[in-house]
Amino acid sequence: MKHIVLAYHHFVKNSYDKKSKLYIDEVRFRSHLLSLMESNYKPTISLADCMNETNTFHITIDDGYLNFYNIAYPILKELNIPATLFVPTSRIGITCFEEDYGTNQTYCSKEQLLEFVASGLINVESHGHGHIKLSNHSYREQYEDVEKSLDIFSSLGLKSNVFCYPYGLYNEDTVRILKLLDFNYSCSTVTGVNKTIDEYKIERLAPDSTMNGNDLIKLIKLYK
Ligand SMILES: [Zn+2]
Repeated sequence: MKHIVLAYHHFVKNSYDKKSKLYIDEVRFRSHLLSLMESNYKPTISLADCMNETNTFHITIDDGYLNFYNIAYPILKELNIPATLFVPTSRIGITCFEEDYGTNQTYCSKEQLLEFVASGLINVESHGHGHIKLSNHSYREQYEDVEKSLDIFSSLGLKSNVFCYPYGLYNEDTVRILKLLDFNYSCSTVTGVNKTIDEYKIERLAPDSTMNGNDLIKLIKLYK
């Protein structure tokens, strides 16, 4: 039994636009989705449904960059495939220099996040507030960061009960905090297909920019 969760970050129009293996072009993204459907994996409306049903897949996108809105969202709408977008709330609607990339990055606006939710297709969930390495922080600092993200969600009229660890980093305190704040699941950067389910360590596969749909199916089949 496989519960496949895919992890994406950036999308580009053309493969020659890609800056690193995290940048997926629209032809490959579409090919991933079509190959999953052709292989009889069912898309689910939420991560929870993906865990509760069998032979399912769910798309997740970390960070909420504007290129999700411009490139991947239209494809998901066209194919009617739901997804979950994990947003660090300090970055909503801003453009800022990011050391991780060495360039400026632009994030989806508040209006765009609300449009996703109104579409009924895209879940917007918490990726913390400051996109910090949670495990490097005290219990109190971690609590404040996660709680702040929920405050901002609530100011937008939204709730979040699925989390995604920034950089995949967390510790026992993080899990305790997520449980206290009513999160039911948290996505990790552990690679796998969730044959058994650990709610606060959901495994994901991150297709890289060189992989087409067939390559993705081959990768999934490696997990017997
Ligand atoms: Zn992130």
